[in-house]
Amino acid sequence: MNTKIVPLLCTRGAVIFPNQDLSVEVGRKPSIDAVEQASRDDSMIFIVSQKDISVEKPDAEDIFEYGTLSIIKNFRRKEENHYRVVFEGKKVAKIIRHIEKDGVNFVEVEEIEDVEADATNVEILTKRVVNEISMMKSLNNNPNLFKIIDLLKSGLSSDELVYSFGQYMVLNIYDKQRILEENSLSERLMLVLELIYKEKEVAKIEEHINSVIKERIEDSQKEYYLREKIKAIKEELNEAPSSGDMDDLKEKVMSEPYPENIKEKALDEFKRYDMMPSSSSEAVVIRSYLEWLLQIPWYQKSDDNDDLKLASRILDEDHYGLEKVKERILEYLAVKQMTNSLKSPIICLVGPPGVGKTSLARSVARALDRKFVKISLGGVKDEAEIRGHRRTYIGSMPGRIIQGMKKAGVLNPVFLIDEIDKMASDYKGDPSSAMLEVLDPEQNFAFSDHYIEEPYDLSDVLFIATANYIDNIPSALKDRLEIINLSSYTEIEKEQIAIKHLIPKQLEINGLKSSQFNLSNELILYLIRHYTREAGVRQLERVIGSLCRKSVLSILKDEKKTIKVSKKKINEWLGHEFYDYGAKEKNDQIGVVTGLAYTSFGGDILPVEVNYFKGKGNLIVTGQLGDVMQESAKIALDYVKANADKYKIENDFFETHDIHIHVPEGAVPKDGPSAGVTLTTALISAITKTKVRSDLAMTGEVTLRGNVLPIGGLKEKSLAAHRSGIDTIVFPKGNIKDLDDVPDTVKNDIKFIPVERVDQVIKEAFIG
Ligand code: ADP
Repeated sequence: MNTKIVPLLCTRGAVIFPNQDLSVEVGRKPSIDAVEQASRDDSMIFIVSQKDISVEKPDAEDIFEYGTLSIIKNFRRKEENHYRVVFEGKKVAKIIRHIEKDGVNFVEVEEIEDVEADATNVEILTKRVVNEISMMKSLNNNPNLFKIIDLLKSGLSSDELVYSFGQYMVLNIYDKQRILEENSLSERLMLVLELIYKEKEVAKIEEHINSVIKERIEDSQKEYYLREKIKAIKEELNEAPSSGDMDDLKEKVMSEPYPENIKEKALDEFKRYDMMPSSSSEAVVIRSYLEWLLQIPWYQKSDDNDDLKLASRILDEDHYGLEKVKERILEYLAVKQMTNSLKSPIICLVGPPGVGKTSLARSVARALDRKFVKISLGGVKDEAEIRGHRRTYIGSMPGRIIQGMKKAGVLNPVFLIDEIDKMASDYKGDPSSAMLEVLDPEQNFAFSDHYIEEPYDLSDVLFIATANYIDNIPSALKDRLEIINLSSYTEIEKEQIAIKHLIPKQLEINGLKSSQFNLSNELILYLIRHYTREAGVRQLERVIGSLCRKSVLSILKDEKKTIKVSKKKINEWLGHEFYDYGAKEKNDQIGVVTGLAYTSFGGDILPVEVNYFKGKGNLIVTGQLGDVMQESAKIALDYVKANADKYKIENDFFETHDIHIHVPEGAVPKDGPSAGVTLTTALISAITKTKVRSDLAMTGEVTLRGNVLPIGGLKEKSLAAHRSGIDTIVFPKGNIKDLDDVPDTVKNDIKFIPVERVDQVIKEAFIG
């Protein structure tokens, strides 16, 4: 056993390997003493590292057992108590005991001898290490590695190779110690290989991390770079670079307060757009999608006028009469204001054309100071018209609701849905279910349009629907609507509407002063009676407009100051009278009876004609009659057959004659059971050859036993009768309460006779 007693120098983590030089800064008192002692004695010094480099005064337990016997190659005093010493390692040794002499730390150490190694093994391993180290160059640019490689070139023993690796590579202190303490060369070589592999792994991980970080940093720059490149390529290909309007849209997304989901959606689409040639069909689809998405209102709102007095004044200003309707609208607005929500049912204005449904809705918008938009559902039979088409092809568009919202430009317009009763449904889906989502306050905060894809909030919209005929509104929708009825106008109302609204409006439209146009009340009535036949005032407005235009021409051409409209001028300007006033039959006739009908255009008179001739008992029915009316005709005939005796009809009459019932067509098909009394009366009149009063009209359903049952629309029917110059109406007794709704002007002019049985009708209608 080869032992030595030498001074001890503890390093903070520096390990010195045999035949390697190591420069150490020496500053601690015991270390300086040891160096000075060794240098005085010209002896070796034992260098060993402490386990924990932070320990200031290491004891025996704080240092490793194994260290290196070294010599001092040179040492230089740097400053007081501070040396720079270069050691050269000589031999690995192990501490046997610690000795303190004259205040200096000594150790007795035992030199460690290498075990014999297998030469081939060493050779193979050495080659391997050399190889690996050479290859590490690309991974690791540690300058010490280059030093080792240089040494390799100058021919290095396996031992030197291992120790210089240990000395120069950045290894942790335990790995260094492991190399130092290993007394078999081949094991040491293995250890080096292990450390090389470890180093390689670490290098790989580091490289990966670096590249990820680099990528992240570069991503934004890369995107910019790629976009610029795309632009350049597009220009090269002569494709317009992303057009200015797209830039404008992008700018819009960034600068305006769109909801987050819309912003995100738009940015995604912009990204997709930038990736494709701008002339491709997909790019066109995306462009128009973005235009839609960003141009419909998402946050814009107008301020409501909350002044109900003002609202009431505006409604009065715009419309004559309609007191009940206006009051109902004001109630609605008041509730809306009080509850600060529109969660009440949606108003539906029901009435014949031209009675002011649309203009009332317009007026509501004006009263609330809201934007106004209108769509018509007439003829809509495909759900996609409401909800739009999915954007799969060029030209697909959002549905009418979203289109309307775009037109409005704000989230809270007054939105008129016209002709909700004229929706149809077919195999393409039922539009009424989509309308339900629009009109139901419980659902319409997230209306889904197939094209827009994002849910759209309609809850601030004030919807107003209109319909001509309540029964034609899909029943699921009817449930959600608050129905307000508007009925036909009487002549007097029409005259007032003309004076107060239609004439001033037309004067303004045509640039006339009121002093330049003079139309007497008498002539207004003349116009109403002979140039219009309608429930509302649309045609009346048209003819007044026409007169105004002719007047303007006359003023300019004939240099007149003012135009006084005369009957002659009306005939000249508008042509002959369109209608005879009182469309009733002029003379009392046999087999001709005036009935009353109620259609989507309001009330109307309904003449029924019956004739018979030799035949075999057939019933022929012609004219535009619906199924219900055909049935009424059969019931009427059966009633007459059953009561032939009562009406003095010959026994074999029905076997030997064919009977023909005709209902002249008129513009609108009519249906319903209320023509029962008319058909029965006409049959009896024809067969018994008795004249019927031409100034009398009738309505009522008839049962097989001759009872007269109540009907609907008495008010509209009586207005139509009034228009036509009828002066007596026979109606079912069950409808007496409806007389309250009939305007007084009508009641003053017309005698209403309630009946319960056909016999009573016959008694009133027949002459003699
Ligand atoms: P609807 O929508 O019921 O078919 P409109 O609203 O289009 O009818 O009315 C037709 C025209 O008649 C409009 O110019 C409207 O201003 C006018 N009008 C209808 N009723 C009145 C009324 N009560 N007072 C003033 N003008 C009216």
